Amino acid sequence: MVAMRLDKHVCMWCGACVGVCPVNSIILFETRIEFQDHCTDCLICERMCPVGAIYHVDENDGHIQLQSEI
Ligand code: SF4
Ligand code: SF4
Repeated sequence: MVAMRLDKHVCMWCGACVGVCPVNSIILFETRIEFQDHCTDCLICERMCPVGAIYHVDENDGHIQLQSEI
């Protein structure tokens, strides 16, 4: 199981991730993003973010899995 995270220093608040989420699990506010509980861990948002602001944490072992490892 993974948890989605946002690097606020990289995000440019374009909203692209909101549009690509197939289950509408991302809510964009002015200065933050919330990933909702019904996220299916598909990682589409992570792959589609134009600036690489979204990453995920593997909650099973606590290690951060880098995009290059997928
Ligand atoms: S697609 Fe990336 S840059 Fe755009 S709002 Fe989402 S996390 Fe931020
Ligand atoms: S991992 Fe998939 S389901 Fe979860 S927020 Fe991103 S696009 Fe939506």
